Amino acid sequence: MMDSQGTTGLILNEPLLWQRGGKGRSGYCLPAQDVPVRQLDAALCGDGPDFPDLCEVEMVRHFTRLSTWNFGVDTGMYPLGSCTMKYNPKTNERQSGLPGFCGAHPLLPAGLSQGLLQMMSELERYLAEITGMDAVSLQPAAGAHGELTGMMVIYAQLAARGERRTKIIIPDTAHGTNPASAALCGFRPVPVASNADGILDAEAIAAVMDEETAGIMVTNPNTLGLFEENIQSIAEIVHDKGGLVYCDGANMNAVMGIVDMAAIGIDVLHLNLHKTFSTPHGGGGPGAGPICVTRALEPFLPVPRVVRTDAGYALSEDFPRSVGKLSAFHGQVGVLIRAYSYILSMGPQGLKKSSQLAVLNANYIREKLKDVFHLPYDRPCMHECVFSDKYQAEHHVATLDMAKRLMDYGFHPPTIYFPLVVSGAIMVEPTESESKEDIDGFIAAMRAIAEEAKTDPEALHDAPVNTKVRRLDETGAARKPCLTG
Ligand SMILES: *Cc1c(COP(=O)(O)O)cnc(C)c1O
Repeated sequence: MMDSQGTTGLILNEPLLWQRGGKGRSGYCLPAQDVPVRQLDAALCGDGPDFPDLCEVEMVRHFTRLSTWNFGVDTGMYPLGSCTMKYNPKTNERQSGLPGFCGAHPLLPAGLSQGLLQMMSELERYLAEITGMDAVSLQPAAGAHGELTGMMVIYAQLAARGERRTKIIIPDTAHGTNPASAALCGFRPVPVASNADGILDAEAIAAVMDEETAGIMVTNPNTLGLFEENIQSIAEIVHDKGGLVYCDGANMNAVMGIVDMAAIGIDVLHLNLHKTFSTPHGGGGPGAGPICVTRALEPFLPVPRVVRTDAGYALSEDFPRSVGKLSAFHGQVGVLIRAYSYILSMGPQGLKKSSQLAVLNANYIREKLKDVFHLPYDRPCMHECVFSDKYQAEHHVATLDMAKRLMDYGFHPPTIYFPLVVSGAIMVEPTESESKEDIDGFIAAMRAIAEEAKTDPEALHDAPVNTKVRRLDETGAARKPCLTG
């Protein structure tokens, strides 16, 4: 193995809290009692809960040790394709923790929530400007929730025209949540294959688009990390038949402030604030998936919406054609504040620059590794690049083996076996956060693994060796989770 700057050794083992401490130990001291003792009714409370007896330092060490089992963007490079695991500046976390925001109750009257409502209104405006769209709803609580909301908006607009279309076109490079969201909204997904360059051909869309079809759901940049260059002519084909174009914009990190989505024919777009706009999302939530729409679709956006009245900002449900309510109260406010703070601290030039750097970093990795890893689509990519294990398969080394070995070098593995259109896919998204030295370290580790695949393939089947646990039975771990240490 090559030496690396990653984490090796010092694996802290940790039992359950019940296996620590000792009877009667405690982390606090209450003042002596000055009222008579009354026993609680035993029939009501039984023996009481079985809490472990621990002192403060045992507690602190327990949770601190457990936290060292974690790997996050703050620990090291986390090039998980399609997930945009970029660094989330701590100032954004601080702003969302400001007492004025944290202490605000969602039922406060608008007159006492002016700051919050103004923040939401301005965030809508910024997101519209960054994407080139006209109107925004901050209500959806995740990317897939945004997709569902967008589909509902499309459904509502068709219904307002007296139409009930049943199908939706979904390319093979779309994210897996797309067909699920469309189906949840009652549309039948019609799959379309991308061409040899990994993008959609206008002819392929023309062949399936008809008046029964509500439109297309396209991920752009797509899940191969490629920009859909024919999107404008595809949008024309869809629009000519009365359909609408939905864009999954979870990959916005590649094109912030660079692509005018309305100008290329997009009608509805969702963003993942927890990917692109500075909310940490390693643990699965909370998130926010605002949707951005054209003027024509604005009347159908969910309620409540932030409006401006003579008395200031207010939340209004007075939109008769709205698809209705999708979240409680104001949506995921903490996530919205982080995004607002991030956008303000980056500024228009900063956002654009970070997208450019994200794209540059991905292309740098692609160029530096393509002689040792098979590149199914050998052309400039956007913010992520997709390799396969074709060369290593000759030595009976699979993508999984190499992903596991990367952990020994201190890197979180990239996304593997996705997108499905590439067999044995290794999808690398470095993001703009990584320094040249860290990216070079990743490239060196990947090259060392490619070499090991040739010289000592058997060893790779045993990777990882420097981690707390080795190869897990992943199916078993999911089906029969063991939650003890
Ligand atoms: C992450 C992602 C989604 C889903 O977002 P969630 O917030 O996890 O629901 C949808 N599309 C693409 C392209 C994504 O990368």
